Amino acid sequence: MPSYSFQCSAGCRYDALYSMSEVPTETVCRECGGSARRAITAPHLSAAGSSAFRLLDHTARSAHEPAVVDRLPSQGARRPQRVTTNPLHAKLPRA
Ligand SMILES: [Zn+2]
Repeated sequence: MPSYSFQCSAGCRYDALYSMSEVPTETVCRECGGSARRAITAPHLSAAGSSAFRLLDHTARSAHEPAVVDRLPSQGARRPQRVTTNPLHAKLPRA
C-alpha cells in the first residue's frame, strides 16, 4: 500500500497509507483536526539503481526478451563433473 503525504492549512505535514483506488484528495488533519490536502511528492526512486532493482529488471526482461546466442557455448565453459567421495552415493542411480 503506497504512502501519501498530506499537508493541512496550518502547516502540519504527515504521511498516511491508502490504497491507490481509495486515496482522498482532502482529509482531516491528524494533528490539528483541520482540513489537509494531499501533497505532491517525488516518488521514492533512490533505490532505482541498486542491484536489487537491476535483478528485477533483468528477470522481467528475460521473460519477454530472452538473450539471443549465435553459437554453442564452448567446451571449456562447461561445468566440471561433480565428484563425491561418499561411498553411499555409489548406490544412487546414474543419470
Ligand atoms: Zn494540521
